[in-house]
Amino acid sequence: MDFELTAAQRTLREEAREFARTEIEPRAGELDESESSPEEILAELGERRYAGLTLPEEYGGRGEGLVELALVVEELSAALMSVASALGLHLGVAAVVERFGTDEQRERFLPEMATYDTVGALGLSEADAGTDKLAMETRAERDGDEWVLNGHKQWVTNFFDADVVLTYAKTGPEGDAPHNVSAFLVPAEEFEVETVWETLGAKSVKSPRVTLSDVRVGDDRMVGEEGEAYVRRGEVHTSVNVPARGVGIARAALEDTVAYTSEREQHGGTISDFQGVRWEVAKMAERVDAARLLTLRAADRAERAETGADVRRETSMAKIRATQAAVDNANDAVQLHGGVGYTTERRVERYLRDARLLTIAGGPNETHKNALADAVFENEG
Ligand SMILES: Cc1cc2nc3c(=O)[nH]c(=O)nc-3n(C[C@H](O)[C@H](O)[C@H](O)COP(=O)(O)OP(=O)(O)OC[C@H]3O[C@@H](n4cnc5c(N)ncnc54)[C@H](O)[C@@H]3O)c2cc1C
Repeated sequence: MDFELTAAQRTLREEAREFARTEIEPRAGELDESESSPEEILAELGERRYAGLTLPEEYGGRGEGLVELALVVEELSAALMSVASALGLHLGVAAVVERFGTDEQRERFLPEMATYDTVGALGLSEADAGTDKLAMETRAERDGDEWVLNGHKQWVTNFFDADVVLTYAKTGPEGDAPHNVSAFLVPAEEFEVETVWETLGAKSVKSPRVTLSDVRVGDDRMVGEEGEAYVRRGEVHTSVNVPARGVGIARAALEDTVAYTSEREQHGGTISDFQGVRWEVAKMAERVDAARLLTLRAADRAERAETGADVRRETSMAKIRATQAAVDNANDAVQLHGGVGYTTERRVERYLRDARLLTIAGGPNETHKNALADAVFENEG
């Protein structure tokens, strides 16, 4: 067992950290406050081919694995979670095209996705299909060599920058569930925007509700085998970006707290002199390390897993622990910053608002507890 990153992984992490510190951090507060898209930052990530981080080099990607994805996402999320989420969702769509798409689809979409010239968004959830995705109402009916889509998608992160929305729709009868859902790369301009929510956090990348009304796409827009898209989603593990985002926020909250408590003077010394404060900071550090170790382990297992291998234990454990670490560390950071922590003058209030999304999105932690418990009972009984 070796807990050290390779030299190449350390270099990649340093490069991402430098980018986050120079290009994202100085603009993060303003982007959040004005609720503006970090489009320039994302374009720059495209130039540097982070938008193709996990895509093979033959398609213009960097050919990195899931551990590298987790390392980069941690760095971006420590600076601004929304940037990491935009990139994570985009890479998830690219991974589905790479894994299940035809050669023609790979050649058509992936090189431009690797540079962020084609931006992907995920259209899976709906108003009544949140944790229960198979309750989705969106349908695609075959008409000759075309498909006609009707329905809506909710919480489509990246939508306003997106060129294509990987849209999941029922193509078979209810009796065939879960083998009745197919995926289509639908041009973003075919959707109508219905609702853009005001959210607690993640303010600079919006996740609207959008509708599809008699939208026609060719057969060449279906990704993967008809009816198998929902079942086979589980073979793509780029969702490790969600716990990695949690690690980033948890770490940023810790770093800000160490800096602030070391300089803030009260009662004739710095507040970091108080044992009560030191123990809180120690707990925050413990959470960061546990979250990161579990996330990197999940990424590593998922990367090595053969198709269909069971990695629920590792991936769900990381999701639960790392996203809760983000919430807890951000909350403690606000407390240890006192009054200023409650203001927008400091970043910790944003960490708390952004962190709050992570225990819900990517599947609420309760459903990951179910998956984890199932894996434990099935494999360790
Ligand atoms: C800002 C944002 C961005 C998002 N981005 C995307 C995206 O890009 N693409 C996409 O497809 N989706 C996206 N989502 C959707 C997200 O994945 C769903 O919100 C999530 O899966 C939960 O669905 P729901 O909100 O309908 O919750 P519901 O299914 O209504 O559940 C509500 C709550 O009930 C509890 N609960 C549910 N099931 C169980 C259970 N089995 N056991 C115990 N408790 C349970 C949990 O506390 C849960 O939070 C996004 C969501 C948000 C808020």
